[in-house]
Amino acid sequence: MSDPVVIIGTGLAGYNLAREFRKLDSETPLLLITADDGRSYSKPMLSTGFGKNKDADGLCMAEPGAMAEQLQAQVWTHTRVTGIDPGHRRLWIGEESLVYRDLVLAWGAEVLSVPIEGDAADQLFTVNDLQGYGRFRQAVEGKRKVLILGAGLIGCEFANDLSLGGYAVEMVAPCEQLMPALLPVEAAAAVQGGLEALGVRLHLGPVLNRLQYAANGLEVHLSDGQTIACDAVVSAVGLRPRIELAAAAGLAVNRGVVVDRLLRTSHAHVYALGDCAEVDGLNLLYVMPLMACARALAKTLSGAPSEVAYGAMPVTVKTPACPLVVSPPPRGREGRWTVEGSGADIRALCHDARGALLGYALTGSAVQERLALNRQLPTLLG
Ligand SMILES: Cc1cc2nc3c(=O)[nH]c(=O)nc-3n(C[C@H](O)[C@H](O)[C@H](O)COP(=O)(O)OP(=O)(O)OC[C@H]3O[C@@H](n4cnc5c(N)ncnc54)[C@H](O)[C@@H]3O)c2cc1C
Repeated sequence: MSDPVVIIGTGLAGYNLAREFRKLDSETPLLLITADDGRSYSKPMLSTGFGKNKDADGLCMAEPGAMAEQLQAQVWTHTRVTGIDPGHRRLWIGEESLVYRDLVLAWGAEVLSVPIEGDAADQLFTVNDLQGYGRFRQAVEGKRKVLILGAGLIGCEFANDLSLGGYAVEMVAPCEQLMPALLPVEAAAAVQGGLEALGVRLHLGPVLNRLQYAANGLEVHLSDGQTIACDAVVSAVGLRPRIELAAAAGLAVNRGVVVDRLLRTSHAHVYALGDCAEVDGLNLLYVMPLMACARALAKTLSGAPSEVAYGAMPVTVKTPACPLVVSPPPRGREGRWTVEGSGADIRALCHDARGALLGYALTGSAVQERLALNRQLPTLLG
């Protein structure tokens, strides 16, 4: 039998690539390897699960056995790849090695860790996969109050979702506004108003220094001297693409594993997509880009080299307390923001010097304008 195409990772990038590949090639042996349990799920659902009252089993779309059958592939679960040797088309799982025809890195990004002191520091949860969601859900079962670290997109979605799930929510982040990397201040204020109307309490400015057990749960100590009681803490302070194994193997890495528009790394027969990949300089941690990459790479792996193209990539943020759609200006394009509206309904547009639309942030009723505006947005990879 010929050497397999091996995909490391069974997140949306790995499984979608396998699905696209099988539409074009039903013969080549296909092997997916994952460090987790290999269940298929849609990661965006992890920040709407409490509002919809779904536990981890409820969010699982297919068991790995069913995926293997559907994809005519092998799926190795709970198996961590520990090294790759591109020169010999080989990867390592501990002492065992395996030869591939082509290797695809779809191993995602990991949650940034924050240095925290205190005897309950190990009670800091992260939710970046279905298993993490399951652990967190179990920990807060029957509890009342959750503290969220981080005020980025994911932190805001968790705040909205946990509130809908009946929890009292506090947020702590060392910034002056919500989603500072994404939003102009007026749009951030609109989202803040929506979350506060749900009862979310924001502490913008301080960091969490210490997490310790108290008589009835946990006690959080902030750098500004405040102490907050809560039952659990979930960290959403950001993600870092996994690059260590690639770097150790001599592949070019930057913020992510560096690939060109054919999704090729710096070494022949090794490709990357999804959260771990930096595609022609862009590391976008969203679903739309990885779907475009999966379709292009499937063609390339089937013998028809195809470059990926990114159109505009607006992101719908799941904060129903204040609907939000945002399309940040492309990297390196200077623009000027103009903001209209007030309260919950903000229309913030970013134009270049010649008046061309570069990006937008729409909140409240202004989100209705997104389709018309999307047609004017520049492509990200044309
Ligand atoms: C809570 C949340 C909500 C989100 N909501 C949205 C949204 O609304 N819209 C949107 O566009 N995007 C959203 N995103 C982002 C989007 O879900 C991700 O960009 C996408 O799911 C990443 O998929 P991936 O397959 O690249 O990585 P992952 O899903 O992280 O998969 C990585 C895989 O690699 C495996 N792996 C890692 N290291 C190894 C190893 N050494 N050996 C073997 N296997 C390994 C893991 O076990 C896993 O199977 C959200 C993200 C989160 C966390």
